[in-house]
Amino acid sequence: MIANYHTHTVRCHHADKVEDAAFVEAAIGAGLQVLGFSEHAPWPYETDTWYKDARMDHAQFDEYVSAVRRLQKQYEGKIRIYLGLECEYYPKYLPWLSSVRDRLDYVILGNHWPETDEFGAKYMYYSTTPEELERYTKIQVEAMESGLFCYAAHPDFGFSSWQKADEVFETCARTICKAAKRLEMPLEYNLYGLEKADLRGHPGLGYPCAEFWEIAAEEGCDAVIGYDAHYLRHLQNTKYRDGAEKFLHGLGLNVLETLPGLE
Ligand SMILES: [Zn+2]
Ligand SMILES: [Zn+2]
Repeated sequence: MIANYHTHTVRCHHADKVEDAAFVEAAIGAGLQVLGFSEHAPWPYETDTWYKDARMDHAQFDEYVSAVRRLQKQYEGKIRIYLGLECEYYPKYLPWLSSVRDRLDYVILGNHWPETDEFGAKYMYYSTTPEELERYTKIQVEAMESGLFCYAAHPDFGFSSWQKADEVFETCARTICKAAKRLEMPLEYNLYGLEKADLRGHPGLGYPCAEFWEIAAEEGCDAVIGYDAHYLRHLQNTKYRDGAEKFLHGLGLNVLETLPGLE
């Protein structure tokens, strides 16, 4: 693994409180040649309650852009750094994303909460009814069809609380994988989800979800591995990365080393 496009910073309020450069040093230490910063998008919500522990503040965006651009120059020749965001699919706020898109190198899709200004909406991770799973699937497919995203981070996030790989699961998972194949959109195998499974377990199938990835393999999807690095240890620990490569190759999935179009 030579590239990771899924890295957070102290700005999201739930990552290591370290300088951005510490993530770059950890990436170099892990042998990466490419590091993408993809902080949680600072959507221009009508209230600021969402910012508390979920994402960088809207007012921090300019500083984030200049900080990562500075690192790009500082580490030139040592590691290639890219500037991105991890964004939910929020049609209401897409004008904001369009207005800043030119200042970014890439955007990855990371659905966590449904679109709303109301704090406390149900985290998609906790989807437990067929309606919620179908809604997650619909949003996931619409987002991929929007053409805004270069890959789908943790596409199986919405199945985390689902109890078994039944018909509802199979239909939803296959719908997402078929859309990814049709749109040539790589799906991310998320290493932070693997660590969470070890540390505290998931309420259901969890993410990454083996049954989802079996379907992704059947549908011929492309995979990328993402550290979803919130802590330096995520880049330093090679255990999950090595296991992921073995698992994905074992399923016969095509694992992309780097993102086409960006390199
Ligand atoms: Zn995410
Ligand atoms: Zn993330």
